[in-house]
Amino acid sequence: MLEVCGLKKTYTAGTFRKSHIKAIDDVTFHINKGETFGIVGESGCGKSTLGRCILRLTEPTSGKIVFNDTEISSLSKESLRTIRPKMQMIFQDPDSSLNPRKTIGKIIAEPLVIMGMDKELIENKVKELIRHVGLLPEHIDRFPHQLSGGQNQRAVLARALALEPVFIVADEPTASLDVSVQAQILNLLKKLKEEYGLTMLFISHDLELVKHMCDRIAVMYMGNIIETASIVDIFREP
Ligand code: ADP
Ligand code: ADP
Repeated sequence: MLEVCGLKKTYTAGTFRKSHIKAIDDVTFHINKGETFGIVGESGCGKSTLGRCILRLTEPTSGKIVFNDTEISSLSKESLRTIRPKMQMIFQDPDSSLNPRKTIGKIIAEPLVIMGMDKELIENKVKELIRHVGLLPEHIDRFPHQLSGGQNQRAVLARALALEPVFIVADEPTASLDVSVQAQILNLLKKLKEEYGLTMLFISHDLELVKHMCDRIAVMYMGNIIETASIVDIFREP
């Protein structure tokens, strides 16, 4: 489903004296359809940059990304627009991705409105999404600040699923939540993955979470993948 080959990303910082940060050095891996693939590694090793580059929310410096036989790394911005709905990204902090001035219903409807879907269809779709992510009908008219962090992250999931994506990048999706809520959101993500038949890239610094969520994982260190293995192999008792 997804192939990443020789991906590199170098950030250039500073205007006068330029410095270059190799966030991703040379990364190659693939994700099979229906798989949850984990990227684990300490803070700053390049995980988020990798996730963003795959969706071209950040432009890679070089390398190839192939998604369902389409080489997205060489697509124009225009052509990307037709593929984007199929690939969604979920970030760690729901507060920063939810517009505080919009109701939860409006937020979830955003992508459907952009696609020009019929008003009545949107309403039904939003109700269905709300139910799927475990929110209540009355939450539709609330604002993000009136809901808990976990409920807001459920809304983020609902919005991400609105256009029926086939691939999701979840970047530390529970890092800003209380530990008790974390498990609920992770289990929801697992359930939704099955229901929607998603393929997922799951990014975390926490090996326990990755172990809980993923079929195979890659360990990242300073911009490189240093090991790839199935969960069964990694956690096999010696
Ligand atoms: P992780 O997600 O593993 O914490 P990141 O991908 O966020 O890692 O960061 C990898 C490296 O790239 C870090 O050294 C970070 O400081 C740097 N970096 C990330 N984003 C930018 C940016 N927009 N501009 C410059 N450097 C960046
Ligand atoms: P621009 O269109 O100015 O380049 P961006 O690069 O921020 O703006 O976003 C381009 C497109 O990417 C937007 O139309 C938006 O629909 C989509 N997009 C933004 N964030 C995400 C995300 N988290 N997941 C999937 N698509 C996104």
